[in-house]
Amino acid sequence: MQFIDLAAQQARIKPQLDAAIARVLAHGRYVLGPEVEALEQRLADYVGVAHCIGCANGTDALQIALMALDIGPGDEVIVPGFTFVASAESVALVGARPVYVDIDPHTYLLDPALLEAAITPRTRAIMPVSMFGQCADMAAIGEVASRHGLAVVEDAAQSFGATQHGWRSGSLSRVATTSFFPSKPLGAYGDGGALFTDDPELAEAIRLVARHGEAKRYHHVRLGMNSRLDTLQAAVLLAKLDLFDEEVALRQAAAQRYDRLLGQAGIAAAPVLAPGNTSVYAQYSIRVANREAVQQRLAEAGIPTAVHYPVPLNRQPALAEPDSRLPVTDAVCEAILSLPMHPYLEAEQQERVVEALAAALAGEGEGGGTGAA
Ligand SMILES: *Cc1c(COP(=O)(O)O)cnc(C)c1O
Repeated sequence: MQFIDLAAQQARIKPQLDAAIARVLAHGRYVLGPEVEALEQRLADYVGVAHCIGCANGTDALQIALMALDIGPGDEVIVPGFTFVASAESVALVGARPVYVDIDPHTYLLDPALLEAAITPRTRAIMPVSMFGQCADMAAIGEVASRHGLAVVEDAAQSFGATQHGWRSGSLSRVATTSFFPSKPLGAYGDGGALFTDDPELAEAIRLVARHGEAKRYHHVRLGMNSRLDTLQAAVLLAKLDLFDEEVALRQAAAQRYDRLLGQAGIAAAPVLAPGNTSVYAQYSIRVANREAVQQRLAEAGIPTAVHYPVPLNRQPALAEPDSRLPVTDAVCEAILSLPMHPYLEAEQQERVVEALAAALAGEGEGGGTGAA
């Protein structure tokens, strides 16, 4: 069994992928070729915003968003402690300070009730992260942000395709970013990323930042970077987009099957799906005590698992904020465990996962504290 099966998808669209790649090799416009613009248009339409700008990866996308908003030294950006390193790393890279806020204990998403206490005169933006495939409470976050004149930057690296009250992830904030890393719900065959916004001026600033600040040839009006989505990756993504809605539905069906099987085994899925949300299930996870031993037993049964993420960002040496206290994040990082999840997971495989999990947890109960050693 595989944690993520990328080959099953490839087998379904191999001729389309081959043709798409061959077209790029034939026209030879490897950088900012016609596929990039075609993809940006399709992604903007899909998300329901006026502007999509491709870039090199999801981490750059976050940094570009912050640079385009002129966030830098002396500024603070509110970030959840429970996320991939890139969320806070991008803040630090522009010279600003990530201010960590804890997550909701049910959804594991930025808790809007904790925002007010974290806002200072230096706060410029709030960065909710749509962890595991669903959006944080964007209405509540947007309300606090507009009251304080702050920008909201959604890190939608894990949630492309998700909705909240019918609106797509990526359309619920001033600007949003996503990633096309191969294992993301919409993944390329290499690195890629994109930004989404409805604001034409911000879209222009984003394009400038991502293209060396070049307003016209060899005329650089602001500091930027070189961050572009490869034409080849855009061609791959265009072919994969044709399957995407069906794959999201397959992911959701697999998640519901896990919900039911785990429920029957008395194991709770965690986090829960918030009302009004759909998730694209970038991860499907549970919480377990004594995680290493459970992972070990599952591995012995041929079930791969992963931990997203074991260390809260406020405790990462490169990004530490020793004074921040995030008890929910701490508890989640200690116990979270991701199960195999992809659109082509079969019912029989999921039954095996849950059986092995129930056995591992029962074994843990008996083993009681003697540990895996
Ligand atoms: C994957 C991911 C990123 C970074 O994307 P890359 O394309 O790998 O740079 C940022 N934030 C979150 C939450 C992610 O999961």
